[in-house]
This record gives sequence, structure tokens and C-alpha cells, in this order.
Amino acid sequence: MSLPSAPAAPACEPRPSSGRPVVQLLLGRYLADQPLEHIRCVAQTRQRRRCPRSVLSPHAPAGLWRLLPATAHRGQLALPAAPMAVYDLSRLPYAEQLRWRTQRCPAHAAADGAADLP
Ligand SMILES: [Zn+2]
Repeated sequence: MSLPSAPAAPACEPRPSSGRPVVQLLLGRYLADQPLEHIRCVAQTRQRRRCPRSVLSPHAPAGLWRLLPATAHRGQLALPAAPMAVYDLSRLPYAEQLRWRTQRCPAHAAADGAADLP
């Protein structure tokens, strides 16, 4: 059994070379604590086990890797603003962005979406 490998991104798409990916959604940016394809759904199955599926799904609308300017902080030295690779979900439907924020796979987003609303 071999581990699934991430699909190769086209050369024109920026990807984070190392470290944690940044995801942009719902007017905010979130720093993921692991590669996107490893982010698992937080829902529990009926057997009280954590859902094994990942949030990133080939069956759901995909975000877009973009190079965006890193937010500059006042008072810092004028370093060249290094753009950072951001997985931009801001053009996806609201429900999709909510699914990412609540860290659910597509199946559990459909089942539990209403319960996650404030
Ligand atoms: Zn799930």
C-alpha cells in the first residue's frame, strides 16, 4: 500500500515551499498547522471515532493558490515585502468557506452544516 501523493501543481501556481500553509476565507486568514491535504474532518462517526476524511476534497470546489502581499506591521523595518502563498477560498460559496472554517469533510458539512451556524 502506498501513500497517496498530492497532485502536482502547475508551475504557474504558487505553493508554499515549506512550513505551514495559509488559508484565506471569510475575510480572514488562517494558518494551518499541517499541509492542507492532511487536515482531517473533525466530525465523529457513529462509532465515536474521528472521521478519516480530509477537508480538502477532489469532489468539492477548489480554492486557488495565490501570491498575496504579507501584511506589514507598523514600526517594522522596511523589509522587502515578501509575498506569501495563500490558499484563497474567498470566491467559493459561503457554505464551502464555512465548511473549511469548521473543518468538515463534504459529507459532514452537508449533515451538520446548520448546527454549526451561530
Ligand atoms: Zn467527515
